[in-house]
Amino acid sequence: MGFFNKHNEDLSEQWRKKYLNLFDEQNRIEHLHHEKEKLLRQFIIQLSILSEGHDQNLDSILQRVRNHVKNEIEAIALKTELKIFNESVKNLPLKKKTLNVGLLFDFLYRQHPVANQQTALRELEKQVNDKESTIEQSSDLFLAILKIIEPEELPENTTDEEKIDPIIYIDVNKVSEQLLQYLSALAIPAVFESQTALLKEILLNPNQSSKPFVEILDDLVQLLLKIKEYGEAEQQDIDQFLLHIAAQLADLNTIVTQTNTSMNTSVKNRNKLDQSIFTQVRELQIEAIKTSSLNTLKEMVNKCFKTVASDIKTHHQQEKEHQLQLQDHMADLVNKMIALEVETENLKMELKVIHTQAMQDTLTGLPNRNAYNQRLKEELARYKRYDTPLTLAVWDIDHFKSINDNFGHKSGDKVLALTASLLREHTRDTDFISRFGGEEFVMILPNTDKDSALILIEELRELIELAGFNANGKAVPITVSCGLTELTSEDTEDSLFERADKALYDAKNQGRNRCCMY
Ligand code: GH3
Ligand code: MG
Ligand code: MG
Repeated sequence: MGFFNKHNEDLSEQWRKKYLNLFDEQNRIEHLHHEKEKLLRQFIIQLSILSEGHDQNLDSILQRVRNHVKNEIEAIALKTELKIFNESVKNLPLKKKTLNVGLLFDFLYRQHPVANQQTALRELEKQVNDKESTIEQSSDLFLAILKIIEPEELPENTTDEEKIDPIIYIDVNKVSEQLLQYLSALAIPAVFESQTALLKEILLNPNQSSKPFVEILDDLVQLLLKIKEYGEAEQQDIDQFLLHIAAQLADLNTIVTQTNTSMNTSVKNRNKLDQSIFTQVRELQIEAIKTSSLNTLKEMVNKCFKTVASDIKTHHQQEKEHQLQLQDHMADLVNKMIALEVETENLKMELKVIHTQAMQDTLTGLPNRNAYNQRLKEELARYKRYDTPLTLAVWDIDHFKSINDNFGHKSGDKVLALTASLLREHTRDTDFISRFGGEEFVMILPNTDKDSALILIEELRELIELAGFNANGKAVPITVSCGLTELTSEDTEDSLFERADKALYDAKNQGRNRCCMY
């Protein structure tokens, strides 16, 4: 809280300067007073020397007067002596010529340059030098001179016990005016206001006060010291209070930070709140410098806290709304993800269908030529790995064109479907049967050599022949021809198929409804 101390220092410095100025002024006045006193002393000594030798009793009084004024003028003692002196010299005839008044007046003119004093002194010198002068005694002259150079008379009733105000020579009005100015420039805490007002009133008319001016000054100094102490104590309170506030604000800051998320909007809201708290604290700091009262500061802090609390409330509200929006957004996202998953699943199924469609013949439900190509490749690879026999059989329905022609295309389709199911149903699951195209079927028989295959193929041929298909009540004779061959290590997909196809060609050429083998 450096700025508070700084503020306090500034105030102290200002206060100190003014006090020092006052002292300087006082010293100056005192110095003048001492000068005057010194001259007066010299004058008294000179007068006493001049007055010596007339009377023994007077001489001892003069000796005492000289002793009194040698160092300091003890006003009361001197007055007493002067009274005795006056009484003693009253009856002494003094020859005017014995008084070296010219020298005395020269001295006085030099020491008292004020115009009215100079005039009065000239008047007095004239009177002394006048043969008809009423001033015949040195005591009268002394009193007349004293009246001119020190017009302020000592109080008549001053007794030995009474103290004479040592600052009676200070220009009370001028000092009071300065003090009033100083007091007006000071920031007076409320508790000292009435006391200060009272002192101000006295300082407006210091001469009318029953109190001696020195006591007024003393009261003022006491008041200023109390204000200073109060200010320091209050400043400590303010510092402590602000430290407490700073700690509270730090706590608040931590809580607010902890409740925040890293989301962009949250960061934006958080920055807004930070800015608001910062502004509040800054304003508080500025006001704290301006104020000198802890109560005012406390009021300001309360106000600041209220604003910050309201900002935090708004911030939390915004955060809550933001969280709700986020939740909605998240729910939206989850729904979209579920929809996407369903869509993906559908797509997968569609792809599967497309794939199946790409690999399957829709009329017979058998794998198509693509599927056959793929399967043959796989079987060839397996053959190379395990060296197990494999036989390929190519089927073709005999005179299918005439079936279409005689019984219609739809009947032709039914013949295709029936042939396919007969082939499928009477072979092993490991055997692969596909519709190669048109009315042609290809069979891959793994783990089967051509001789074993031939037995199966013959059975199938006979089975189809005996199936007894009919269309519109008419019997439709169906026969199939087949060419088969066994895979060799030199074979490619094409060479294997070509050999089987060649065997089929042979079967057709040899009269159909038969199997040939290579
Ligand atoms: P071959 O005994 O020499 O094999 O004589 P074929 O008539 O069976 O042979 P060809 O190649 O002359 O005729 C085949 C016919 O099969 C021609 C074509 O219209 C018919 N066909 C091909 N695919 C289909 C089909 O999916 N449905 C029907 N109904 N007919 C088909
Ligand atoms: Mg054909
Ligand atoms: Mg045919």
